[in-house]
Amino acid sequence: MSRTEKRDYYEVLGVSRNASSEEIKKAYRKLALKYHPDKNPGNHEAENNFKEAAEAYAVLSNPAERAQYDQFGHSMGGRGFTGFEGFQDSFRDFGEIFGDLFEDFFGSRGRRRGDPREGERGADLQYSIEINLEEVLTGKEVTFEIHRLEECEECRGSGAGPGSKRETCGDCRGLGQVRITQGFFSISRTCPRCGGRGEWIAKPCPVCKGQARKEKPRRINVKIPAGVDTGSRLKISGEGEAGVRGGVRGNLYVLIHVRPHELFQRMGNDIACEWAIPFSIAALGGSVDVPLLDGSMELKIPAGTQNGKVFRLKDKGVADVQSSARGDALIRVLIQVPSHLSDEEKKLLYQFAKLRKEKAEEPKGFFGKIKF
Ligand SMILES: [Zn+2]
Ligand SMILES: [Zn+2]
Repeated sequence: MSRTEKRDYYEVLGVSRNASSEEIKKAYRKLALKYHPDKNPGNHEAENNFKEAAEAYAVLSNPAERAQYDQFGHSMGGRGFTGFEGFQDSFRDFGEIFGDLFEDFFGSRGRRRGDPREGERGADLQYSIEINLEEVLTGKEVTFEIHRLEECEECRGSGAGPGSKRETCGDCRGLGQVRITQGFFSISRTCPRCGGRGEWIAKPCPVCKGQARKEKPRRINVKIPAGVDTGSRLKISGEGEAGVRGGVRGNLYVLIHVRPHELFQRMGNDIACEWAIPFSIAALGGSVDVPLLDGSMELKIPAGTQNGKVFRLKDKGVADVQSSARGDALIRVLIQVPSHLSDEEKKLLYQFAKLRKEKAEEPKGFFGKIKF
C-alpha cells in the first residue's frame, strides 16, 4: 500500500472527524469483527480491510497521534502495518478492546501492553474429544496426551546460553520501542534489535535457541461431566503452555463433540427414538421392552394405540450439565405389519378381516379346502 493510495482514517472507520473516542472504538470493533482473518480465511481483501481498520484505529485512538493526523494527514508518515510485526500489533490492540468476552474468537493473541520485560503469558491450547451419548449420560474420565511448550530445563527458562544472561537492550533501554524523529515529529516503533522484548541475549541457549521453552508431551486427565453436548468447552486452568520469563501458564480447553447415536436423537436433555411394536399389541394392549441409553425398560401399550404415538418416559433422558436433573426419553411407536405369515396366521387374520367386513384378499392354496 503506497502512501498516496491511503484512505482517510475517518473514512476507513466510517466516523465523522469529530467522533468521540467511544465512537471510534465502536466503529473499529465492528469492522474488526467483520474482517477478522479467522472469519475470512484466505480472503486477502478482508485481510487488507482488517489491517486498514487496525491502522486507522491505532492512530485515531491515540490522542496525540490523532491530533497530528488531523493537522497533517498521512504526510506524518503513519504507522506501518505492512509487515508481520505490525499485524501482531493489531492483535495486541484487540485484547484491550474485546477483553475476555471474545476469548473464544481471539484466543490468547491479544497481549497486554506494558513493560515488555514482564513475563509473557503462555498460550491457551484447545483439544477436541469425541464421546458417545452413553458417555454423556454417565460422564467420562479421559486421559490423553497433549504437546505443549514447557520451560527449557537447560537454561531454566531464561533462554540464555552458558556464561550468558538476559541483558537490557541497549538500543531501546529496555522499553521495547525506539523513537524515530522525522522532521518535526517523533514516532515510536518496535525496537528492531530486540524485537520489542526490551531484552537482549548475547549467547542464546543452544537447546531452546533462546526461546526459553521446548515442546514436550504431557498426559492430561479430564473428568467430562454428564450432560455435555457438542460444542461444550471445558476449561482446565493452568494446563496450557508455559509462560515466558515468569509469565503465567495459559489454559487448556477441551472441546466436546458428541457422536451421533445409531438409535437415539438428542433434543436438549431429552432423547428420542422410534421403536417398532407388533400390531396385535397395539390393538389389544400389552407391553414391550424399549431401549434406553442404559439398558431397557418395559413400556405399557394401551389397547388401540395408533401408529406414531409418542410415549414419554420420565427422567430417562440425559442429565442437565448444570442441575443434573434428567430429561425424558421419548419413544415413538411404529406399528409393525406382520409379514411372512404362516398358513395358520393367514387363516386367523382372514377370519378377523371377514368378521370386520373388510375386503381382504383370500389367501391362496390352503384356504381353498376350508369352508368358513
Ligand atoms: Zn534453553
Ligand atoms: Zn531493544
